[in-house]
Amino acid sequence: MDNTVLLHTCCGPCATHVANALMKEGFEVVLFFYNPNIHPFDEYVKRYESFVEYARYKGLKVETPFAYNPLEFFEWIKEPEERCVRCYEMRLSRTARWAREQGYPFFTTTLTISPYQDLENIFKVGEKVEKRERVVFLKKNFRSGFTESVKISRELGLYRQNYCGCIFSKWEGVKRRIWKSLTGPSSS
Ligand code: SF4
Repeated sequence: MDNTVLLHTCCGPCATHVANALMKEGFEVVLFFYNPNIHPFDEYVKRYESFVEYARYKGLKVETPFAYNPLEFFEWIKEPEERCVRCYEMRLSRTARWAREQGYPFFTTTLTISPYQDLENIFKVGEKVEKRERVVFLKKNFRSGFTESVKISRELGLYRQNYCGCIFSKWEGVKRRIWKSLTGPSSS
């Protein structure tokens, strides 16, 4: 029986533990990079390079059939408060469709390793997409491997980002840092 899983991969560091965990369970892993939510382009390139570096290191097959197009992200994001759910749906829809078209029986995502992501909504979106595309969604919580993923990516020297991906998450991070520096103990 074909046990290949198309793994939506947000970046190299998150793939480290997730790919290992899936392979330990007996899955063949194919890494799929589709993240038009990453802004700006130079950040996208850094994450893409860390993804390729990791895939080469592990000898894993990669699928990168879609060129970077940040407009796709903005077309998906209709309501600001639903931004992340729509972003999950954009990426998992494309992953599941590609899995179906290429004959991979399973799909899942590295997103569930991050303590900063909304696990419940990722699962809801995965199940919705599973029904629509008729490819099995592996509903897995990889969070227990987050610390290990940080350790492995440090050892391999993989680039690690400090914001989720989109321009809004970058802006929120900058605002937080500026506010902290203005209101912190040293500002008085
Ligand atoms: S914060 Fe992250 S998950 Fe949410 S919309 Fe931005 S890139 Fe997507």
